[in-house]
Amino acid sequence: MTGVDDCRVDPGVLTGDDAVRAMSVHYGCPPQCLPRCRAEDAMTREFVKVARIPGEWDADLAEKVRQITELL
Ligand SMILES: [Zn+2]
Repeated sequence: MTGVDDCRVDPGVLTGDDAVRAMSVHYGCPPQCLPRCRAEDAMTREFVKVARIPGEWDADLAEKVRQITELL
């Protein structure tokens, strides 16, 4: 996985971990920010999965996603 620090570079489809990392860097960015856009997509996808299958995900990561999605 290459860096997700550059707003103009599309990181592609992100995993849950990468999405949390990207969002922690980019949550203050405008909607045009590509990593932020990908992170939102991934988190929406992952969060739905977590909500459906409790215990499937690392609890800390799930908590992080919960906190971040509240910031959006
Ligand atoms: Zn950004």
